Amino acid sequence: MLVSSLFPIIVAIDKSSLDEVKSLADSLDPKKCRVKVGKQLFTRYGPAVVSELHQRGFDVFLDLKFHDIPNTTAEAVLAAADMGVWMVNVHASAGIDAMQLAKSYLQQGGYETLLIAVTVLTSMSVQALEQIGISADTQTQVQHLAALTQQAGLDGVVCSAQEAKMLKSLYGENFKLVTPGIRLESDNPDDQHRICTPMQALANGADYLVIGRSITQAQNPNQKLQLILDSIV
Ligand code: C5P
Repeated sequence: MLVSSLFPIIVAIDKSSLDEVKSLADSLDPKKCRVKVGKQLFTRYGPAVVSELHQRGFDVFLDLKFHDIPNTTAEAVLAAADMGVWMVNVHASAGIDAMQLAKSYLQQGGYETLLIAVTVLTSMSVQALEQIGISADTQTQVQHLAALTQQAGLDGVVCSAQEAKMLKSLYGENFKLVTPGIRLESDNPDDQHRICTPMQALANGADYLVIGRSITQAQNPNQKLQLILDSIV
């Protein structure tokens, strides 16, 4: 299998205490994966949690999905880049001005932090989209916001592995696709509905695979990570 990134796995560190984060991080090899910190953890522990992970040698994806007026969005992205994170994200629905301004702040500051956008949250049904005034079906809306993201010059989008093939063919190799909802066939799907194996997701064009419970709840997380890596070589 040709893997566009030799380092495709991002482990979602969805733990509720700093001690659990440290112990999980200590059990993982930073040469084999990156890690993702979300709103839950960041709201509780702030930059300290990012710092703990950086100290252990991990690249951090700060998944805070900023959605605000352009100046606030761009300043928040800049603050994330100042923490030295590898990747950060915004909502594409914040609009092209917010995305362009955030990207320009990173470029002007010479930061290498990747900036990606969330299109439509996978928890949104067609009915939920209608309720917030969007009459397009999910796929059309995802495509629309991915096009806007590319136009704004961002590095890529978060999407489901099922959408990856379509988005890769429309927006090209350099437009990075980050996909959650990944499970081995032997794994529990938990609350994920549309799951893909790591191999299928990469074959569909995903560049980075966000994997949480499949690794974090394993008895030996590093061994499970290795099993997943072996399944995609
Ligand atoms: O445990 P699991 O592998 O399902 O975790 C997936 C991670 O990706 C979680 O942190 C979840 O919040 C995140 N995520 C997702 N679906 C999205 C966006 C983010 O599952 N559309």
